[in-house]
Amino acid sequence: MKAFDLSGRVAIVTGGNGGIGLGMARGIARAGGQVAVVGRNTAKTTAAVAELEALGVKCLAIEADVIKDEECRSLVEQAAAHFGRVDILVNNAGTALRKPPHEYTMQEWRRIIDTNLSSAFACSQAAYPHMKAAGGGKIISIGSIMSVMGASFAVAYAASKGGIVQMTRALATAWAVDNIQVNALLPGWIDTDLTKGARREVAGLNERVLGRTPVGRWGTPADFEAITVLLCGNGSQYITGAAIPVDGGYTIQA
Ligand code: NDP
Repeated sequence: MKAFDLSGRVAIVTGGNGGIGLGMARGIARAGGQVAVVGRNTAKTTAAVAELEALGVKCLAIEADVIKDEECRSLVEQAAAHFGRVDILVNNAGTALRKPPHEYTMQEWRRIIDTNLSSAFACSQAAYPHMKAAGGGKIISIGSIMSVMGASFAVAYAASKGGIVQMTRALATAWAVDNIQVNALLPGWIDTDLTKGARREVAGLNERVLGRTPVGRWGTPADFEAITVLLCGNGSQYITGAAIPVDGGYTIQA
């Protein structure tokens, strides 16, 4: 069994044009998998596709806003039509909003829940028939340390990321019979565009992250490459419904 060989596999990575998603896409491409890179920012997506293709695999740029259900369904169909199959779905696209719960509008709440959680469900549902037809598949969704911890400034984000873990468990139980493994990764504090602003604006954040993370540094997109290949390959057939922290030990620090 070649546990870490993804040649011949087709992956869709939402938000694959930057940050953690691009790190995961690099892992898949280095293992020989073809990647459909999904994002809203066409320039970023084009650059990511060029970088991944330089690793020797065929890729596809798809422009979509995952807040819209119909665009989630369409992006899966575009990838399936282009490559002829879908084996791997990475539900990574996500966004955050820092403000106290009592100041949220319902529109802001729905924007976070729909971008981070409903999109993952819509993409998974659209990918299911393709994976079933291929005899199996792999779904990885990105949660957060906020899947298991609370924060005064992140009510909708925490709710969406907690939902990712429970959605993962439900899909894993439902689709095990179809040989589809469904798992979640829970990143800690990772140095990406999403956290660069917070790092600048929130006094003491950098020091708190460094002080609390046993590994003693921020994570990087490269920290997601190997775990992605493991969860997408043949070696992880018995790993499903798991929520795996990739946080340098942040959540186990007493
Ligand atoms: P980035 O801001 O670098 O990446 C976010 C990605 O999501 C971009 O590629 C962006 O593409 C895409 N995206 C956002 N909204 C949409 C949308 N509506 N439709 C399509 N694509 C969208 O941040 P990260 O890499 O840090 O975040 C990736 C995931 O990791 C998110 O789910 C985030 O919640 C999660 N996470 C991040 C942590 C961190 O510390 N960085 C910690 C825990 C979880 P585009 O620019 O083209 O819109």
